[in-house]
Amino acid sequence: MKYDVIVVGAGVAGLNAAFVLASKGFNVAIIESKPRSRIGDKTCGDAIGVHHFKELGWYPPEETIDHRYKGVKIYSPSEKYSIIVSGEGVSVNRLKFGQWLLKRAEDNGAVLLDKHVLLGVKFNDNGIQSIKVKELGKPGLKELVADAFIDTSGAKPALRSKLPLEWPISERPYMTDYNIAYREVLEINEPVNDEDVDYAVIYLNTIIAPGGYWWFFPKNPSGKIVNVGLGVVWGVDDYNPRHNYNKYLKPRFKGKLLHAGGGMVPTRRPLPTLVWRNVGVAGDAAYTVNPVHGGGIGSSLQASAIVAKYIGDALEKGIVDETTTWQANKEYMQAYGAKQAALDILRMYLQKLSNEEFEWIMKNKIVDGKSIYDLGTHARLIEEVVHGISSMLRLLSKPTLLNQLRIVRNYMNKVKELYLDKYPETPEKLYEWMEVVEKTYNEYRAQIKYDPGQKVKW
Ligand SMILES: Cc1cc2nc3c(=O)[nH]c(=O)nc-3n(C[C@H](O)[C@H](O)[C@H](O)COP(=O)(O)OP(=O)(O)OC[C@H]3O[C@@H](n4cnc5c(N)ncnc54)[C@H](O)[C@@H]3O)c2cc1C
Repeated sequence: MKYDVIVVGAGVAGLNAAFVLASKGFNVAIIESKPRSRIGDKTCGDAIGVHHFKELGWYPPEETIDHRYKGVKIYSPSEKYSIIVSGEGVSVNRLKFGQWLLKRAEDNGAVLLDKHVLLGVKFNDNGIQSIKVKELGKPGLKELVADAFIDTSGAKPALRSKLPLEWPISERPYMTDYNIAYREVLEINEPVNDEDVDYAVIYLNTIIAPGGYWWFFPKNPSGKIVNVGLGVVWGVDDYNPRHNYNKYLKPRFKGKLLHAGGGMVPTRRPLPTLVWRNVGVAGDAAYTVNPVHGGGIGSSLQASAIVAKYIGDALEKGIVDETTTWQANKEYMQAYGAKQAALDILRMYLQKLSNEEFEWIMKNKIVDGKSIYDLGTHARLIEEVVHGISSMLRLLSKPTLLNQLRIVRNYMNKVKELYLDKYPETPEKLYEWMEVVEKTYNEYRAQIKYDPGQKVKW
C-alpha cells in the first residue's frame, strides 16, 4: 500500500491530477468514497466556458456534452431587462464527463480505490506519512503510505481540514465565503422560449437568491430538459436554498424530475498556498472557484494540472515540500488566482446590492455584455469601463453607487497586484504576505460595511 502520490477525491480536480501524474509514470492511487459507477455524478449547473478547454489544450469527447451555449443571458429582478454576454459554452453531462476523466487516468496507470473514505492522517517530519481509510462495508481501516498527497475532496476538504492549523494551507474560511445551492434537472412540460434555449440564463433576484443568483440552464436543443437552481450566501439569516426553490421556482417549472440535489460552492479568493510540505490542494478544496459566477469546473481542472505538474517535478528531484513545489503557486496566481482574488472584492460588493439597485443598473444600461465579459475574464474594471460607468452614475446623480464603485476598483487593483507582482518568491515570505492580504480585505470589508460573520467549524 505504498504509492508515489495519493489523490483524495475523484471529482474533476482529482481525476485530472491523477491523469497528469500517472501519465508521467508515477504510481498514483485515487481515494473516493463513492462507488465507481457514480464517479462524476455531481450536483452542479453543468455549464462551462469553452475557453477553459482551449487553455487546457484538450477537449472532452462529444458524447460528454449535452448542449451548447452562445453565451450567458442575465435578467434583471423584474425580468424586464436583460444583458447578453457572448462567449461559447457547453453543458456537460457530469456523469459521463467524470467517467471519461476516470478512464483517462486509469488508462495511464492510476489506481482507483472507490468506496474508500479518508478518516485519518499520520504525520512525520516531512509532512504526511500515511492516511487511514475505511473501505465501506468492510471491517477495519487500511493505512496507505505515499511520498506526496493531493487533496481534491471538494468544498468540505477531507484532508486539508486534518492538517495542523499553523500550516498556511489549512486556512479556515468564513461561512459567507460559500454559497449553498439547490438544483433540479427536469423534463419540463412547457419548453423554454426560443430565444433563451441557446443561453445559460442567470436571474438576479435578492429575494429568491440572496447573496447569489438563480439559474435556468437548458440541457438539450429543444429546451425541454433543463437544469434549474439557486445559490444563497451561507451563514446569514438561515437562508435555505431548497426552501426558496420550492417557494419561488417549483411553481414556475412543472415537469418530470430527473435529478435533485444540493451542494456548497466556495466563492472567495484562493488559498494563500496550494502546496505545503508534501501536500498539494486543488479544486473546491483550494477554493479555486470563480467568486462571482460560482463556476469551478474549468478552474479546478486548471489548478489540478498545475499542482500535479509541480508535485511530479518535485518527486523527480526526490524532495516534495513547499520549496520544491512553490512555482505551482506563482503559476496558478498568474493563470487564475489573482483574477479570483479581485473578483472576491467585487463579489462582496454585489452581495450588498438590492433588487432596486440591480434593476436600476440594468434599466439604465450602466454595464453591457462586453464590460461584464472583460470583468469575468480579466477581472479588470478597466479604466475605460469605469470611466463610462462613472460618468453615467454622475449624470444620473447616484453618488453612493459612484463612491462605492471607486472603492471597489481601488481594492480590485490592490489585491490583483498583491496576488501577481507581490506574491512571495519563496515560502519563507508567505506569512508576512498573508498578513498584508488579511489587512487589505479587512479594510475593504470595513469600507463597504460587509460583515463576514463566523468562520467555518471544520
Ligand atoms: C449546485 C452547484 C452548481 C454548480 N454549477 C456550476 C456550473 O454550472 N459550472 C461550473 O463550472 N461549476 C459549477 N459548480 C462548481 C463545480 O461543481 C465545482 O467547482 C467542481 O465540481 C469542483 O470539483 P472538485 O473536483 O474540486 O470537487 P468535487 O467535484 O466535489 O469532488 C470531490 C470528490 O471527493 C470525494 N470525497 C469527499 N470527501 C471524501 C473523503 N473523506 N474520502 C474520500 N472521498 C471523498 C467526493 O465524493 C467527491 O467525489 C457548481 C457547484 C454546485 C454545488
